[in-house]
Amino acid sequence: MPPTGKIYDYLVIGGGSGGLASARRAASYGAKVGLIEGSGRLGGTCVNVGCVPKKVMWNTASIAEAIHDAKEYGFPEVGPTTFDWNTLKHKRDAYIKRLNGIYERNLEKDSVEYISGLASFVSGNSVTLGNGEEIHAKKILIAVGGRPTIPHVPGAELGIDSDGFFDLEHQPKRVAVVGTGYIGVELAGIFHALGSKVSIFSRTEEILRPFDPIIKDTLRKEMIKIGVEIVPHAKVKSLAKAENNAITLNYASNGQDASAEFDTVLWAIGRHPNLKSLALDKAGVTLNNKGYVVADEYQETVIPEVYALGDVCGIEQLTPVAIAAGRRLSDRLFGPAQFKNAKLDYRNVPSVIFSHPTAGAVGLTEAQAIKEYGVENLNVYVSEFSGMYNAMKVHKTPSAFKLICAGPEEKVVGIHIVGQGSDEMLQGFAVALKMGATKADFDSTVALHPTSAEELVTLTKANLKKL
Ligand SMILES: Cc1cc2nc3c(=O)[nH]c(=O)nc-3n(C[C@H](O)[C@H](O)[C@H](O)COP(=O)(O)OP(=O)(O)OC[C@H]3O[C@@H](n4cnc5c(N)ncnc54)[C@H](O)[C@@H]3O)c2cc1C
Repeated sequence: MPPTGKIYDYLVIGGGSGGLASARRAASYGAKVGLIEGSGRLGGTCVNVGCVPKKVMWNTASIAEAIHDAKEYGFPEVGPTTFDWNTLKHKRDAYIKRLNGIYERNLEKDSVEYISGLASFVSGNSVTLGNGEEIHAKKILIAVGGRPTIPHVPGAELGIDSDGFFDLEHQPKRVAVVGTGYIGVELAGIFHALGSKVSIFSRTEEILRPFDPIIKDTLRKEMIKIGVEIVPHAKVKSLAKAENNAITLNYASNGQDASAEFDTVLWAIGRHPNLKSLALDKAGVTLNNKGYVVADEYQETVIPEVYALGDVCGIEQLTPVAIAAGRRLSDRLFGPAQFKNAKLDYRNVPSVIFSHPTAGAVGLTEAQAIKEYGVENLNVYVSEFSGMYNAMKVHKTPSAFKLICAGPEEKVVGIHIVGQGSDEMLQGFAVALKMGATKADFDSTVALHPTSAEELVTLTKANLKKL
């Protein structure tokens, strides 16, 4: 039967980072594009419950830290003050709402048709919004992102997830963060800097497990030093309601049963693809053993003309990755011949952690480099220091930098930095690594002084750590 509803050249499911970028790029080439968003607000995780509101909160936490430091810098009157979480929350919400509007206007400006509703596949080239109408397309993109995972333990619903963090109207006094990925560490840091008492529950001894030891060890020690409790080898068994709206968290740590009371318990144990209601089986799209959509390096699923990218594929779950993949895909599908092989290079994607202090990494960790190059072919340079901002302070916030260099030419294959300003520092160094810079290139670059960044171009033999 011929299709009766609308037919698009390109139908994008999901109005988040990847979907918006891909839709707009396709439309810029003249394709007829529709974009379906199910939540009623555009921007996806990043804008609504991710990077953007998180960065506002991290900025707020940084101001609290600066107020704390002010006395040591000669401002005797500046000291502990009150913080109005609720006022900031509503200001932040208003800012996000403005962004939602900007995204909607951008779609209109670029002639992308915005369709509000929750899409489910009917077949490999059509979807429905559950209202009986079918929307047909020559090509369909799945960019539905991910969702926080909640564990199956009794009372789990008493806790909140990272989405719930942004709904908090008031600052909780005692917070448990369960999980030690970057989201858990970032939100724990924000709570702590703003004055909550924070306990982090880790399944292992560590936090930030996938990161290089220089980042995870430095940050773990610093968090403990500034008063964040890290409960190691912890297994949360249940949550129960306690008096005064508190929550009792029952857990085992190192095999010993224990319990503690908190005002808020935040689950940060990971994320999973947002596939509920998509009826992917109707399209025949396959999933991997972790439940993520399988797509190749060209973002192609096993079904012709059905593509997938961003968090739903489970690789490098970051906004700029979803955006870049989305744009490359539309360049290839709808752009001029020069883009006929366009695809995203997923190697050497930089990432930062908005912790206290911030951290960032690009390239291989030490363990990955040993696996790839062999220990005998590597040189590792390390500098551990305290940035000049600490000169007037009693508590010295640590900085620690690591360069991993491979082969006789000492090609830089990994950069791992933690310390104030690391978040802003890393982007330029990521360009250098991507271009194939060597240690000699770093050394021949004149330092910027006095900065922390200069440490990276002044690493000498004295900093060479034998593996
Ligand atoms: C707390 C937190 C902090 C983060 N901080 C950072 C950071 O600092 N830097 C960074 O780079 N990344 C960060 N991220 C990750 C980043 O937000 C994601 O990688 C990014 O948003 C992924 O983009 P996406 O397009 O794949 O999916 P999303 O942005 O999640 O968009 C998917 C969209 O699809 C919609 N959708 C789902 N199902 C359907 C359906 N059936 N029909 C229609 N619409 C549907 C959803 O409502 C959503 O709007 C953070 C994430 C979290 C949770």
